[in-house]
Amino acid sequence: MSDTLTNKAASFNDIQTKDIKHHFSPFSNNKELAEHGSRVINKAHGVYIYDDNGNKLLDAMAGLWCVNIGYGRQELVDVATKQMKELPYYNLFFKTTHAPAAKLAEKIASLAPTHMNKVFFTGSGSEANDTIFRMVRRFWDLKGQPTKKQFISRKNAYHGSTVVGASLGGMGYMHEQGDLPIEGISHIDQPYYFKEGGDDTQEAFGIKAAQSLETKILEIGENNIAAFIAEPFQGAGGVIVPPASYWPEIKRILAKYDILLVVDEVISGFGRTGEWFASQYYDLKPDLMPIAKGLSSGYLPIGGVIVGDRVAHTLIEKGGDFNHGFTYSGHPVAAAVALKNIELLESEGVIERVKNDTSPYLQKRWQELAAHPIVGETRGLGMVAGLELVKNKDTKERIAPDAKAGGICRDFSMANGLIMRPCGDTMIISPPLVITKAEIDELVEKAVKTLDETAKYFNLL
Ligand code: PMP
Repeated sequence: MSDTLTNKAASFNDIQTKDIKHHFSPFSNNKELAEHGSRVINKAHGVYIYDDNGNKLLDAMAGLWCVNIGYGRQELVDVATKQMKELPYYNLFFKTTHAPAAKLAEKIASLAPTHMNKVFFTGSGSEANDTIFRMVRRFWDLKGQPTKKQFISRKNAYHGSTVVGASLGGMGYMHEQGDLPIEGISHIDQPYYFKEGGDDTQEAFGIKAAQSLETKILEIGENNIAAFIAEPFQGAGGVIVPPASYWPEIKRILAKYDILLVVDEVISGFGRTGEWFASQYYDLKPDLMPIAKGLSSGYLPIGGVIVGDRVAHTLIEKGGDFNHGFTYSGHPVAAAVALKNIELLESEGVIERVKNDTSPYLQKRWQELAAHPIVGETRGLGMVAGLELVKNKDTKERIAPDAKAGGICRDFSMANGLIMRPCGDTMIISPPLVITKAEIDELVEKAVKTLDETAKYFNLL
């Protein structure tokens, strides 16, 4: 295969050799990597990354859904340099704070839904979800309802890679490793219409999928349930955009029961939907929102939990010490960079442009791919999109067993200078929010070429 073969034929350079010998790569088959060598990425600008073979790739995944502002922003370098000189590190434990953390918290609160006014900082999205797990249980203890301990999540959800994050997530391939999920977490149906909709209309299926929440609540008992956690649209699960009927029905159900709502905004936060948060896009009123990724556009690791007034009030007024925090909670350099990143998104009108101009264009152009012979469905919202690879559009039969087509398609895509990610046989994109219309045209053109080559590879064109 193009990409793999090129790497295999080449002898390993110094970096690849070091990597093979000593680096244990995340979410990778390290044995296979040792045979082929990893692609070495050495610079990036705008929406493009470059490898050390001189290849230029349009990064339609914005790294891991995070480089919202695009690569190479000098303003972020400058602010990091300044902050490093002034105060490279200090912690927020034990009655201290610093300007970057306080200012960033204020800024985030000003953009979040109005009932959310406190931010607890973490180093990542996984840590944010771990934090939520403890905050929520503590909240119910303080409310005098200590039986309310269980979390309801969804199959095929992604909430991180730590023990709690992976347990909250609904990925079977993660649960298999490390004996997960931990106790106290159950997973309900996902609103994945293409795969599970059967003969239902989108509308009916959305309601049905949402009602599995009520079924689970009745099964476990309201008095035992702490929170429901969900991504507004599933990201790593394959950019699964719920039918329009889904969230209103979830809201109706949650309004009946005293259960907290956690909306995981790690991917969707900071503009991905054309709103600052997807909770605004879907008109949700979360009690807690984990954030990360676009918060700093990935320039430095930082995450957090935006805490709604109800939970914050109880934890703060009644809770005494909250015995939780990370060495790098609100790291000053990361916080200063995040603040500047948000200021740039704001002052350059990036999110309005996504909403009114570039995301409608992306979605329109992406939809054209639905006409391709091996595309069973296209879908998306804002600056995320996905498509389903199939052999037969009517029966939705897949091209090859074990989701092999997705990996092949990814390799062709890479060879064509486009980073698309496979989730099984779903190809997904989540480009930097600064992508221009001309770059969107390039993205779609490369995607078409990639689909053609994939179809030919499987003798379908
Ligand atoms: N939640 C969601 C919705 C995510 O997509 C991710 C990461 N892809 C996480 C949580 C975990 O974030 P991190 O990798 O920063 O721990």
